[in-house]
Amino acid sequence: VVVVSALTFRILHGSRDMALSLVDMVQQFGYIDETLRVIGQPQSVCDSPNAPDLKSRGGTIEFRDVSFAYGGGRDAVHDIDLRIPAGQKVGIVGPSGAGKSTLIHILQRLYDVQKGEIVIDGQSIRSVSQDSLRTALSVVPQEISLFHRTVMENIRFGRPDATDEEVFAAARAAYCDGFVCSLPDGYATVVGERGMKLSGGQRQRIGIARAFLKDAPIIILDEATSALDTESEMEVQKALVRLMRDRTVIAVAHRLSTLTAFDRIIVMMGGRIVEDGTAMDLRQQRGLFDRMWRLQAEGLSLDEIVEDAA
Ligand code: ADP
Ligand code: MG
Repeated sequence: VVVVSALTFRILHGSRDMALSLVDMVQQFGYIDETLRVIGQPQSVCDSPNAPDLKSRGGTIEFRDVSFAYGGGRDAVHDIDLRIPAGQKVGIVGPSGAGKSTLIHILQRLYDVQKGEIVIDGQSIRSVSQDSLRTALSVVPQEISLFHRTVMENIRFGRPDATDEEVFAAARAAYCDGFVCSLPDGYATVVGERGMKLSGGQRQRIGIARAFLKDAPIIILDEATSALDTESEMEVQKALVRLMRDRTVIAVAHRLSTLTAFDRIIVMMGGRIVEDGTAMDLRQQRGLFDRMWRLQAEGLSLDEIVEDAA
């Protein structure tokens, strides 16, 4: 990583002939690391020749008997059969290592599956161009990475050709407008590693604003595990509810309190779906979900609960 960083640093800084201190390197690292993550595509996945674009109509997602293992290991997800109709909001819960992240990674085709297929609006994600697949999916990650750029540019990252007006509208929709206007230079404030520090909840809302701007039919959400302050938490929840409206949502949920926003809960364990239904259904089944729910009522966070219940 250090070698790659050094190389990238030299590329970014061209011919500037200067000795770099370790401190400079470390300061640059966040930005470089992020750049690499954004431009870096896994080598194993590639477009088939003349791959057509995904024609997205509403965002129905199907996992048809899908199994996937990382590099020759045992299956991280196994025999997944799951149909998510357009507009449905699905929360995935389960213990650490259950396969939740893997499920959302293979939906983005970060890896190709070894068995079965994943289909969006009737088209196998393996057969369509990766660009068009990425356009159909908005990913809101656990940790939002900010570039060392202005707030404006950071939000515009959701859709680089968006106009200023569109960026402002997305910021308002995601409840960013209030805190952005209180920053020293408003939308022109530089944020990121060496810029203005934003709170966890503010960063989350920037991520949501990016998704509004992108306006994709499918939202992939990896809910933040770290607790946000109460005020931020409420604003983030309101922004998410608004974003989820009229879109298909598949979300890794870490807190039971947010599960009420979903139409359907999938409980995973050992790479399989072990429970599937509304929160109410699952509570009545008195299985893993119900145990998690009751332990939560005793004040444990979901991450502690899943360890316990598993
Ligand atoms: P969860 O998100 O539910 O905690 P994951 O999808 O991250 O679970 O992991 C499912 C299984 O796959 C686990 O056994 C985990 O150790 C394994 N795994 C996850 N990511 C990788 C990886 N990049 N390489 C190898 N194994 C992985
Ligand atoms: Mg995970």
